[in-house]
Amino acid sequence: MAYKAATGGRTVALTFDDGPGPATGQILDLLAQYHAQATFCQIGKQAAANPALVKRIIADGHRLCDHTVDHPQPMHTLPHDQQVHEITAAKDMISKAGGPDTRITWFRAPGGDFSPENRQIAVQAGLRPLGWTVDTRDWTHPGAASILATAKRELRPGGIILMHDGGGDRSQTVAALRKLLPWLTEQGYRFSLPTS
Ligand SMILES: [Zn+2]
Repeated sequence: MAYKAATGGRTVALTFDDGPGPATGQILDLLAQYHAQATFCQIGKQAAANPALVKRIIADGHRLCDHTVDHPQPMHTLPHDQQVHEITAAKDMISKAGGPDTRITWFRAPGGDFSPENRQIAVQAGLRPLGWTVDTRDWTHPGAASILATAKRELRPGGIILMHDGGGDRSQTVAALRKLLPWLTEQGYRFSLPTS
């Protein structure tokens, strides 16, 4: 399970879940402005519905993560075959949306509901389980200031930050990211990718 950024030292890995969605373009614009690479944990059905965004994520140099077909929670109680479908069909949907040569490296269970079973299914599908070290809890809509404060308070060098580009109104996330990216740069953080 990956819980740290790839390169050593003062690095941070940004991850965005539940997209692609209406906020993904704004997030990609901000990442480009700060030359920041990130990992996008995508829901298969949304990737299929938004192939242009999947292609842009790849073209901008980011990484892709399988976040299941339709985000079932809890995942670990599903029958085995259904868990296999959630992971392998999502991988196919994201691949098809991204076009030829799309690489999907990671798997993240919905709500972080990793189990030995779904981790094994992911590994058999060529995906490595992706955790996080900082949960900004942006999905609870605590306000941009709270999202930013949580990230600043909990981040340690080599950490992985969890935010969301889909799954509802993400204007607070975008506002927080607009301040978080320059802060990370000022603090001497380098943007990295997760490693296992
Ligand atoms: Zn999710």
